Amino acid sequence: MQKISSNAPGAKQVVSHQLKSELSIQSKKCIECKLCRKECKFLQKYGSPKDIADTYDPTSPEHQMMPFFYKKYKSSPKNT
Ligand code: SF4
Repeated sequence: MQKISSNAPGAKQVVSHQLKSELSIQSKKCIECKLCRKECKFLQKYGSPKDIADTYDPTSPEHQMMPFFYKKYKSSPKNT
């Protein structure tokens, strides 16, 4: 993965463009066969890669932290 300084001019637009491109590719490639969800607790909780790609909001702090606080969210009463 290419590192981009957050201080570089236009860095947010570049990352946003790259992220949008990756989300679009994932959304198109995933046919929601659910094979990966059988083995992955993260995907069982959050949905198929297509679901995640289609609903991911890069401006949402909750979405940004989703992979890092999986255990926290997993044990949270509102998410069980
Ligand atoms: S659900 Fe998982 S295994 Fe199935 S197509 Fe999507 S990414 Fe691939």
